[in-house]
Amino acid sequence: MIAKDDILQYNWQAREEGYTALEHEIIFRDLCCGCGVCAAVCPEKVIEVQEFPKLTGKCTNCGYCLMQCPRSFFFSEEAESKIFGTLSQELLGRMETKLAARTKDASIKGQDGGFVTALLKYALEKKIIDGAIVSAFDKETWMPRAKLATSVKDLEGTSGTRYSNSPNLVALLDAKEKNLKALAVVGLPCQIEAVRKIQNYQIEEVNLANRIKLAIAIFCSSNFLYDGLMKKLVEGKYNVKIKDIKKIDIKGKNLLVYTDKGKTEIPLKEAYKEKREGCKVCTDFPGKLADVSVGAVDSQGGFSTVFARTKFGAELLNRIIKDGKFETAEIKELRVAEALQTKKAENAVKEIRARIMKELPLPFKSLKW
Ligand SMILES: Cc1cc2nc3c(=O)[nH]c(=O)nc-3n(C[C@H](O)[C@H](O)[C@H](O)COP(=O)(O)OP(=O)(O)OC[C@H]3O[C@@H](n4cnc5c(N)ncnc54)[C@H](O)[C@@H]3O)c2cc1C
Ligand code: SF4
Ligand code: SF4
Ligand code: SF4
Repeated sequence: MIAKDDILQYNWQAREEGYTALEHEIIFRDLCCGCGVCAAVCPEKVIEVQEFPKLTGKCTNCGYCLMQCPRSFFFSEEAESKIFGTLSQELLGRMETKLAARTKDASIKGQDGGFVTALLKYALEKKIIDGAIVSAFDKETWMPRAKLATSVKDLEGTSGTRYSNSPNLVALLDAKEKNLKALAVVGLPCQIEAVRKIQNYQIEEVNLANRIKLAIAIFCSSNFLYDGLMKKLVEGKYNVKIKDIKKIDIKGKNLLVYTDKGKTEIPLKEAYKEKREGCKVCTDFPGKLADVSVGAVDSQGGFSTVFARTKFGAELLNRIIKDGKFETAEIKELRVAEALQTKKAENAVKEIRARIMKELPLPFKSLKW
Protein backbone atom coordinates (compact mmCIF):
# COMPACT_ATOMS: atom_id res chain seq x y z
CA MET A 1 0.00 0.00 0.00
CA ILE A 2 1.32 3.47 -0.77
CA ALA A 3 0.97 6.01 2.00
CA LYS A 4 -1.08 9.12 1.37
CA ASP A 5 2.04 11.28 1.33
CA ASP A 6 3.73 9.11 -1.32
CA ILE A 7 0.72 9.43 -3.56
CA LEU A 8 0.62 13.17 -3.19
CA GLN A 9 4.31 13.31 -3.89
CA TYR A 10 3.88 11.11 -6.97
CA ASN A 11 1.61 13.67 -8.46
CA TRP A 12 2.01 17.12 -6.96
CA GLN A 13 -0.28 18.47 -9.64
CA ALA A 14 -3.23 16.56 -8.21
CA ARG A 15 -2.77 18.26 -4.85
CA GLU A 16 -1.99 21.67 -6.27
CA GLU A 17 -4.92 21.78 -8.64
CA GLY A 18 -7.43 19.23 -7.32
CA TYR A 19 -10.29 18.58 -9.70
CA THR A 20 -8.81 20.98 -12.26
CA ALA A 21 -5.91 18.53 -12.66
CA LEU A 22 -8.38 15.72 -13.45
CA GLU A 23 -10.00 17.94 -16.04
CA HIS A 24 -6.74 18.95 -17.69
CA GLU A 25 -4.96 15.60 -17.54
CA ILE A 26 -7.85 13.28 -18.37
CA ILE A 27 -11.20 14.77 -19.30
CA PHE A 28 -10.16 17.57 -21.62
CA ARG A 29 -7.59 15.26 -23.25
CA ASP A 30 -10.39 12.89 -24.25
CA LEU A 31 -8.94 10.06 -22.20
CA CYS A 32 -11.84 9.52 -19.78
CA CYS A 33 -13.46 6.08 -20.09
CA GLY A 34 -16.37 6.96 -17.79
CA CYS A 35 -15.59 4.33 -15.15
CA GLY A 36 -16.92 6.38 -12.21
CA VAL A 37 -14.00 5.80 -9.84
CA CYS A 38 -13.27 9.50 -9.38
CA ALA A 39 -16.78 10.02 -7.95
CA ALA A 40 -16.46 7.01 -5.63
CA VAL A 41 -13.11 8.11 -4.17
CA CYS A 42 -13.91 11.80 -3.65
CA PRO A 43 -14.12 12.39 0.11
CA GLU A 44 -16.19 15.54 -0.43
CA LYS A 45 -18.67 13.74 -2.74
CA VAL A 46 -18.47 16.61 -5.21
CA ILE A 47 -18.01 14.57 -8.41
CA GLU A 48 -20.91 13.21 -10.43
CA VAL A 49 -20.38 10.97 -13.44
CA GLN A 50 -22.88 10.10 -16.16
CA GLU A 51 -20.82 10.01 -19.33
CA PHE A 52 -18.12 12.35 -18.01
CA PRO A 53 -17.29 13.65 -14.54
CA LYS A 54 -18.71 16.97 -13.40
CA LEU A 55 -17.76 18.99 -10.32
CA THR A 56 -20.85 19.76 -8.23
CA GLY A 57 -19.40 21.44 -5.13
CA LYS A 58 -16.25 22.66 -3.44
CA CYS A 59 -13.09 20.68 -4.16
CA THR A 60 -10.59 20.54 -1.31
CA ASN A 61 -7.64 19.54 -3.53
CA CYS A 62 -6.98 16.14 -1.96
CA GLY A 63 -5.90 14.85 -5.39
CA TYR A 64 -7.49 11.42 -5.00
CA CYS A 65 -9.61 11.65 -8.15
CA LEU A 66 -6.62 11.99 -10.45
CA MET A 67 -4.49 9.57 -8.48
CA GLN A 68 -7.08 6.77 -8.58
CA CYS A 69 -8.24 7.39 -12.17
CA PRO A 70 -7.21 4.43 -14.37
CA ARG A 71 -6.31 6.85 -17.14
CA SER A 72 -3.76 8.91 -15.13
CA PHE A 73 -1.32 6.04 -14.68
CA PHE A 74 -1.84 2.32 -14.93
CA PHE A 75 0.77 -0.41 -15.08
CA SER A 76 -1.01 -3.39 -16.61
CA GLU A 77 1.96 -5.76 -16.30
CA GLU A 78 2.28 -4.95 -12.62
CA ALA A 79 -1.44 -5.57 -12.17
CA GLU A 80 -1.26 -8.83 -14.10
CA SER A 81 1.64 -10.20 -12.10
CA LYS A 82 -0.06 -9.27 -8.83
CA ILE A 83 -3.23 -11.11 -9.83
CA PHE A 84 -1.75 -14.17 -11.51
CA GLY A 85 1.82 -14.32 -10.24
CA THR A 86 3.15 -14.34 -13.83
CA LEU A 87 2.72 -12.47 -17.09
CA SER A 88 0.62 -14.19 -19.75
CA GLN A 89 1.80 -14.40 -23.34
CA GLU A 90 -1.73 -15.27 -24.51
CA LEU A 91 -3.47 -12.84 -26.85
CA LEU A 92 -6.70 -13.05 -24.84
CA GLY A 93 -4.99 -13.16 -21.45
CA ARG A 94 -4.64 -15.95 -18.94
CA MET A 95 -7.42 -18.52 -18.67
CA GLU A 96 -7.90 -21.41 -16.25
CA THR A 97 -11.08 -22.56 -18.01
CA LYS A 98 -13.14 -21.50 -21.01
CA LEU A 99 -16.63 -22.63 -21.95
CA ALA A 100 -19.96 -21.55 -23.41
CA ALA A 101 -22.81 -21.36 -20.89
CA ARG A 102 -26.53 -20.62 -20.84
CA THR A 103 -28.51 -20.19 -17.64
CA LYS A 104 -31.38 -22.61 -16.99
CA ASP A 105 -33.13 -19.92 -14.92
CA ALA A 106 -36.06 -18.72 -17.05
CA SER A 107 -36.48 -15.59 -14.91
CA ILE A 108 -33.16 -14.21 -16.23
CA LYS A 109 -33.36 -12.40 -19.57
CA GLY A 110 -29.68 -12.04 -20.32
CA GLN A 111 -28.03 -10.37 -23.28
CA ASP A 112 -26.55 -13.70 -24.38
CA GLY A 113 -26.60 -16.74 -22.07
CA GLY A 114 -27.46 -14.68 -18.97
CA PHE A 115 -24.26 -15.95 -17.38
CA VAL A 116 -23.36 -12.71 -15.60
CA THR A 117 -26.71 -12.26 -13.88
CA ALA A 118 -27.04 -15.96 -13.02
CA LEU A 119 -23.55 -15.95 -11.48
CA LEU A 120 -24.39 -12.88 -9.38
CA LYS A 121 -27.69 -14.42 -8.29
CA TYR A 122 -25.89 -17.60 -7.22
CA ALA A 123 -23.14 -15.70 -5.40
CA LEU A 124 -25.69 -13.55 -3.50
CA GLU A 125 -27.85 -16.57 -2.59
CA LYS A 126 -24.86 -18.55 -1.35
CA LYS A 127 -23.52 -15.49 0.49
CA ILE A 128 -20.23 -15.62 -1.41
CA ILE A 129 -20.79 -11.89 -1.93
CA ASP A 130 -22.84 -9.35 0.01
CA GLY A 131 -23.31 -6.97 -2.91
CA ALA A 132 -22.96 -6.70 -6.68
CA ILE A 133 -22.10 -3.57 -8.61
CA VAL A 134 -23.88 -3.57 -11.96
CA SER A 135 -25.57 -1.30 -14.47
CA ALA A 136 -29.27 -0.48 -14.39
CA PHE A 137 -31.14 1.73 -16.85
CA ASP A 138 -34.24 3.81 -17.36
CA LYS A 139 -36.57 1.92 -19.76
CA GLU A 140 -38.00 5.16 -21.19
CA THR A 141 -34.64 6.68 -22.09
CA TRP A 142 -32.19 3.74 -22.06
CA MET A 143 -29.85 5.94 -20.02
CA PRO A 144 -27.61 3.59 -17.99
CA ARG A 145 -26.69 4.17 -14.36
CA ALA A 146 -24.60 2.46 -11.70
CA LYS A 147 -26.43 0.21 -9.25
CA LEU A 148 -25.55 -1.65 -6.08
CA ALA A 149 -27.57 -4.86 -5.74
CA THR A 150 -27.64 -6.47 -2.31
CA SER A 151 -30.39 -9.00 -3.03
CA VAL A 152 -31.57 -11.16 -5.90
CA LYS A 153 -34.57 -8.83 -6.27
CA ASP A 154 -32.20 -5.89 -6.77
CA LEU A 155 -30.76 -7.64 -9.84
CA GLU A 156 -34.10 -7.25 -11.66
CA GLY A 157 -33.74 -4.90 -14.62
CA THR A 158 -29.96 -5.02 -14.65
CA SER A 159 -29.25 -7.82 -17.17
CA GLY A 160 -28.78 -7.10 -20.89
CA THR A 161 -26.46 -4.64 -22.60
CA ARG A 162 -26.56 -0.87 -22.92
CA TYR A 163 -24.06 0.44 -25.48
CA SER A 164 -23.46 3.78 -23.79
CA ASN A 165 -21.59 4.62 -20.65
CA SER A 166 -22.69 3.19 -17.34
CA PRO A 167 -20.37 4.56 -14.63
CA ASN A 168 -20.70 1.36 -12.58
CA LEU A 169 -17.90 2.12 -10.13
CA VAL A 170 -19.75 5.13 -8.70
CA ALA A 171 -21.75 2.51 -6.75
CA LEU A 172 -18.64 1.59 -4.75
CA LEU A 173 -19.51 4.56 -2.60
CA ASP A 174 -22.94 3.07 -1.73
CA ALA A 175 -21.20 -0.21 -0.87
CA LYS A 176 -18.82 1.62 1.46
CA GLU A 177 -21.67 3.50 3.11
CA LYS A 178 -23.42 0.17 3.72
CA ASN A 179 -20.12 -1.26 4.94
CA LEU A 180 -20.30 -4.23 2.55
CA LYS A 181 -17.23 -6.43 2.64
CA ALA A 182 -17.50 -8.89 -0.26
CA LEU A 183 -18.44 -7.23 -3.52
CA ALA A 184 -18.66 -8.46 -7.09
CA VAL A 185 -18.07 -5.76 -9.66
CA VAL A 186 -19.33 -6.11 -13.23
CA GLY A 187 -17.55 -3.81 -15.63
CA LEU A 188 -16.10 -3.21 -19.03
CA PRO A 189 -12.37 -3.94 -19.31
CA CYS A 190 -11.50 -0.30 -18.51
CA GLN A 191 -13.62 -0.52 -15.36
CA ILE A 192 -11.80 -3.68 -14.31
CA GLU A 193 -8.52 -1.79 -14.85
CA ALA A 194 -9.91 0.85 -12.48
CA VAL A 195 -10.68 -1.87 -9.93
CA ARG A 196 -7.13 -3.22 -10.18
CA LYS A 197 -5.70 0.28 -9.89
CA ILE A 198 -7.51 1.09 -6.65
CA GLN A 199 -6.49 -2.34 -5.32
CA ASN A 200 -2.83 -1.78 -6.19
CA TYR A 201 -2.62 1.88 -5.19
CA GLN A 202 -4.77 2.03 -2.10
CA ILE A 203 -5.45 5.22 -0.22
CA GLU A 204 -6.37 4.45 3.36
CA GLU A 205 -9.05 7.11 3.62
CA VAL A 206 -10.71 5.92 0.40
CA ASN A 207 -11.18 2.42 1.80
CA LEU A 208 -12.94 0.80 -1.15
CA ALA A 209 -10.56 -1.69 -2.72
CA ASN A 210 -10.49 -4.41 -0.05
CA ARG A 211 -14.23 -4.80 -0.33
CA ILE A 212 -13.97 -6.13 -3.91
CA LYS A 213 -13.73 -9.93 -4.06
CA LEU A 214 -14.85 -10.74 -7.59
CA ALA A 215 -14.18 -8.76 -10.77
CA ILE A 216 -16.33 -9.76 -13.75
CA ALA A 217 -15.40 -8.20 -17.10
CA ILE A 218 -17.70 -8.05 -20.08
CA PHE A 219 -16.01 -8.11 -23.50
CA CYS A 220 -15.91 -4.72 -25.20
CA SER A 221 -14.95 -3.52 -28.67
CA SER A 222 -16.22 -0.01 -28.11
CA ASN A 223 -18.69 2.18 -26.28
CA PHE A 224 -20.76 5.01 -27.76
CA LEU A 225 -21.87 8.48 -26.68
CA TYR A 226 -25.50 8.37 -25.56
CA ASP A 227 -26.69 11.41 -27.54
CA GLY A 228 -24.90 10.34 -30.70
CA LEU A 229 -26.03 6.72 -30.62
CA MET A 230 -29.47 6.88 -29.10
CA LYS A 231 -30.80 10.34 -29.99
CA LYS A 232 -29.07 11.16 -33.27
CA LEU A 233 -28.84 7.73 -34.85
CA VAL A 234 -31.41 5.34 -33.36
CA GLU A 235 -34.21 7.86 -32.82
CA GLY A 236 -33.19 10.62 -35.25
CA LYS A 237 -32.02 8.88 -38.40
CA TYR A 238 -33.64 5.44 -37.97
CA ASN A 239 -36.93 6.62 -36.42
CA VAL A 240 -36.99 4.09 -33.58
CA LYS A 241 -38.62 5.52 -30.45
CA ILE A 242 -36.21 4.89 -27.58
CA LYS A 243 -39.02 4.01 -25.14
CA ASP A 244 -40.15 1.18 -27.48
CA ILE A 245 -36.76 -0.56 -27.53
CA LYS A 246 -36.69 -4.06 -26.07
CA LYS A 247 -33.09 -4.98 -26.78
CA ILE A 248 -29.99 -3.61 -28.52
CA ASP A 249 -27.28 -5.96 -29.74
CA ILE A 250 -24.24 -5.98 -31.97
CA LYS A 251 -23.98 -8.88 -34.36
CA GLY A 252 -21.51 -9.02 -37.24
CA LYS A 253 -21.37 -5.63 -38.94
CA ASN A 254 -24.63 -4.25 -37.55
CA LEU A 255 -26.13 -2.73 -34.45
CA LEU A 256 -29.54 -4.39 -34.07
CA VAL A 257 -32.36 -2.53 -32.36
CA TYR A 258 -35.39 -4.67 -31.39
CA THR A 259 -38.91 -3.38 -30.69
CA ASP A 260 -42.28 -5.16 -30.70
CA LYS A 261 -42.55 -4.16 -34.38
CA GLY A 262 -39.35 -5.95 -35.40
CA LYS A 263 -35.67 -5.31 -35.88
CA THR A 264 -33.83 -2.24 -37.21
CA GLU A 265 -30.31 -2.80 -38.55
CA ILE A 266 -27.84 0.08 -38.24
CA PRO A 267 -24.46 -0.44 -39.91
CA LEU A 268 -21.71 -0.41 -37.29
CA LYS A 269 -19.77 1.94 -39.55
CA GLU A 270 -22.37 4.60 -38.75
CA ALA A 271 -22.40 3.81 -35.05
CA TYR A 272 -18.61 4.06 -34.90
CA LYS A 273 -18.88 7.77 -35.75
CA GLU A 274 -20.43 8.12 -32.27
CA LYS A 275 -17.66 6.16 -30.55
CA ARG A 276 -16.43 7.56 -27.27
CA GLU A 277 -13.06 9.27 -27.75
CA GLY A 278 -11.58 7.62 -24.64
CA CYS A 279 -12.30 4.21 -26.21
CA LYS A 280 -9.94 4.90 -29.10
CA VAL A 281 -6.87 4.38 -26.90
CA CYS A 282 -8.17 1.20 -25.26
CA THR A 283 -6.24 -2.02 -25.88
CA ASP A 284 -8.18 -4.64 -23.90
CA PHE A 285 -11.11 -6.44 -25.57
CA PRO A 286 -11.74 -9.42 -23.24
CA GLY A 287 -11.00 -7.92 -19.81
CA LYS A 288 -7.66 -9.61 -19.22
CA LEU A 289 -7.41 -8.54 -15.58
CA ALA A 290 -10.74 -9.90 -14.39
CA ASP A 291 -11.46 -13.03 -12.32
CA VAL A 292 -14.03 -14.01 -14.93
CA SER A 293 -14.62 -12.50 -18.39
CA VAL A 294 -17.89 -12.89 -20.29
CA GLY A 295 -18.93 -12.11 -23.87
CA ALA A 296 -20.77 -13.58 -26.82
CA VAL A 297 -18.38 -14.08 -29.71
CA ASP A 298 -17.23 -17.62 -30.59
CA SER A 299 -20.22 -19.28 -28.85
CA GLN A 300 -23.46 -20.34 -30.52
CA GLY A 301 -26.39 -17.88 -30.27
CA GLY A 302 -28.00 -17.67 -26.85
CA PHE A 303 -24.85 -18.73 -24.98
CA SER A 304 -22.28 -16.63 -23.11
CA THR A 305 -18.58 -17.14 -23.75
CA VAL A 306 -16.93 -17.47 -20.35
CA PHE A 307 -13.24 -17.31 -19.41
CA ALA A 308 -12.36 -18.07 -15.79
CA ARG A 309 -8.97 -16.47 -15.26
CA THR A 310 -8.05 -16.60 -11.56
CA LYS A 311 -8.20 -19.68 -9.32
CA PHE A 312 -11.07 -18.06 -7.43
CA GLY A 313 -12.96 -17.43 -10.69
CA ALA A 314 -12.37 -21.02 -11.84
CA GLU A 315 -13.50 -22.50 -8.51
CA LEU A 316 -16.66 -20.44 -8.60
CA LEU A 317 -17.34 -21.47 -12.19
CA ASN A 318 -16.81 -25.17 -11.40
CA ARG A 319 -19.07 -24.92 -8.38
CA ILE A 320 -21.93 -23.26 -10.22
CA ILE A 321 -21.69 -25.69 -13.16
CA LYS A 322 -21.65 -28.68 -10.77
CA ASP A 323 -24.75 -27.29 -9.09
CA GLY A 324 -26.50 -27.66 -12.46
CA LYS A 325 -27.25 -23.97 -13.00
CA PHE A 326 -26.14 -23.90 -16.66
CA GLU A 327 -26.25 -25.73 -19.94
CA THR A 328 -22.68 -25.73 -21.18
CA ALA A 329 -20.80 -26.36 -24.41
CA GLU A 330 -17.16 -26.58 -25.36
CA ILE A 331 -15.50 -23.64 -27.11
CA LYS A 332 -13.37 -25.05 -29.90
CA GLU A 333 -11.71 -21.90 -31.17
CA LEU A 334 -11.60 -18.22 -30.33
CA ARG A 335 -11.09 -16.88 -33.82
CA VAL A 336 -13.44 -13.88 -33.54
CA ALA A 337 -12.29 -12.86 -30.06
CA GLU A 338 -8.66 -13.04 -31.21
CA ALA A 339 -9.40 -10.95 -34.29
CA LEU A 340 -11.26 -8.33 -32.24
CA GLN A 341 -8.41 -8.15 -29.69
CA THR A 342 -5.82 -7.75 -32.45
CA LYS A 343 -7.83 -5.04 -34.21
CA LYS A 344 -8.49 -3.16 -30.99
CA ALA A 345 -4.81 -3.10 -30.04
CA GLU A 346 -3.75 -2.04 -33.58
CA ASN A 347 -6.31 0.77 -33.67
CA ALA A 348 -5.22 2.01 -30.25
CA VAL A 349 -1.59 2.16 -31.35
CA LYS A 350 -2.59 4.16 -34.46
CA GLU A 351 -4.66 6.54 -32.34
CA ILE A 352 -1.91 7.06 -29.79
CA ARG A 353 0.61 7.78 -32.58
CA ALA A 354 -1.81 10.25 -34.12
CA ARG A 355 -2.31 11.97 -30.77
CA ILE A 356 1.42 12.25 -30.27
CA MET A 357 1.81 13.76 -33.73
CA LYS A 358 -0.94 16.25 -32.89
CA GLU A 359 0.89 17.16 -29.67
CA LEU A 360 -1.32 16.99 -26.61
CA PRO A 361 -3.35 18.62 -25.09
CA LEU A 362 -6.20 17.65 -27.37
CA PRO A 363 -9.35 19.70 -27.96
CA PHE A 364 -12.44 19.26 -25.80
CA LYS A 365 -14.17 17.35 -28.58
CA SER A 366 -16.60 15.15 -26.67
CA LEU A 367 -17.58 17.53 -23.92
CA LYS A 368 -20.83 19.37 -23.55
CA TRP A 369 -21.52 21.16 -20.27
C1 LIG B 1 -20.40 -1.35 -24.49
C2 LIG B 1 -20.38 -2.86 -24.63
C3 LIG B 1 -19.75 -3.45 -25.72
C4 LIG B 1 -19.71 -4.84 -25.86
N1 LIG B 1 -19.06 -5.40 -26.95
C5 LIG B 1 -19.01 -6.74 -27.06
C6 LIG B 1 -18.36 -7.34 -28.18
O1 LIG B 1 -17.82 -6.65 -29.06
N2 LIG B 1 -18.31 -8.71 -28.25
C7 LIG B 1 -18.89 -9.50 -27.29
O2 LIG B 1 -18.82 -10.74 -27.40
N3 LIG B 1 -19.51 -8.96 -26.22
C8 LIG B 1 -19.59 -7.62 -26.10
N4 LIG B 1 -20.24 -7.07 -25.02
C9 LIG B 1 -20.76 -7.96 -23.95
C10 LIG B 1 -22.13 -8.53 -24.24
O3 LIG B 1 -23.01 -7.54 -24.76
C11 LIG B 1 -22.76 -9.12 -22.94
O4 LIG B 1 -22.69 -8.17 -21.89
C12 LIG B 1 -21.99 -10.32 -22.46
O5 LIG B 1 -21.98 -11.29 -23.48
C13 LIG B 1 -22.64 -10.93 -21.20
O6 LIG B 1 -23.89 -11.43 -21.52
P1 LIG B 1 -24.73 -12.24 -20.45
O7 LIG B 1 -26.02 -12.66 -21.07
O8 LIG B 1 -23.85 -13.29 -19.83
O9 LIG B 1 -24.94 -11.11 -19.33
P2 LIG B 1 -26.23 -10.54 -18.63
O10 LIG B 1 -26.74 -11.52 -17.64
O11 LIG B 1 -27.17 -9.98 -19.63
O12 LIG B 1 -25.56 -9.34 -17.79
C14 LIG B 1 -24.93 -8.27 -18.42
C15 LIG B 1 -24.25 -7.44 -17.35
O13 LIG B 1 -23.64 -6.30 -17.97
C16 LIG B 1 -23.96 -5.11 -17.25
N5 LIG B 1 -23.98 -4.00 -18.21
C17 LIG B 1 -24.88 -3.77 -19.19
N6 LIG B 1 -24.56 -2.67 -19.89
C18 LIG B 1 -23.43 -2.19 -19.32
C19 LIG B 1 -22.61 -1.07 -19.61
N7 LIG B 1 -22.86 -0.21 -20.58
N8 LIG B 1 -21.52 -0.88 -18.85
C20 LIG B 1 -21.22 -1.72 -17.82
N9 LIG B 1 -21.97 -2.81 -17.51
C21 LIG B 1 -23.06 -3.03 -18.25
C22 LIG B 1 -25.32 -5.41 -16.65
O14 LIG B 1 -25.61 -4.66 -15.52
C23 LIG B 1 -25.21 -6.90 -16.31
O15 LIG B 1 -24.66 -7.07 -15.02
C24 LIG B 1 -20.32 -5.67 -24.88
C25 LIG B 1 -20.98 -5.07 -23.79
C26 LIG B 1 -21.01 -3.68 -23.65
C27 LIG B 1 -21.70 -3.05 -22.46
S1 SF4 C 1 -11.95 16.84 -3.22
FE1 SF4 C 1 -12.83 15.46 -4.76
S2 SF4 C 1 -12.73 16.68 -6.64
FE2 SF4 C 1 -11.31 17.63 -5.20
S3 SF4 C 1 -9.31 16.69 -5.63
FE3 SF4 C 1 -10.29 15.51 -3.95
S4 SF4 C 1 -11.30 13.85 -5.06
FE4 SF4 C 1 -10.88 15.42 -6.58
S1 SF4 D 1 -11.61 7.57 -16.41
FE1 SF4 D 1 -12.90 7.16 -14.62
S2 SF4 D 1 -11.79 8.05 -12.88
FE2 SF4 D 1 -10.88 8.90 -14.75
S3 SF4 D 1 -11.95 10.83 -15.08
FE3 SF4 D 1 -13.06 9.30 -16.26
S4 SF4 D 1 -14.68 8.55 -14.89
FE4 SF4 D 1 -13.21 9.64 -13.61
S1 SF4 E 1 -13.54 0.31 -25.51
FE1 SF4 E 1 -12.23 0.19 -23.68
S2 SF4 E 1 -12.42 2.23 -22.77
FE2 SF4 E 1 -14.15 1.99 -24.14
S3 SF4 E 1 -15.80 1.21 -22.85
FE3 SF4 E 1 -14.78 -0.55 -23.84
S4 SF4 E 1 -13.27 -1.21 -22.34
FE4 SF4 E 1 -13.88 0.87 -21.76
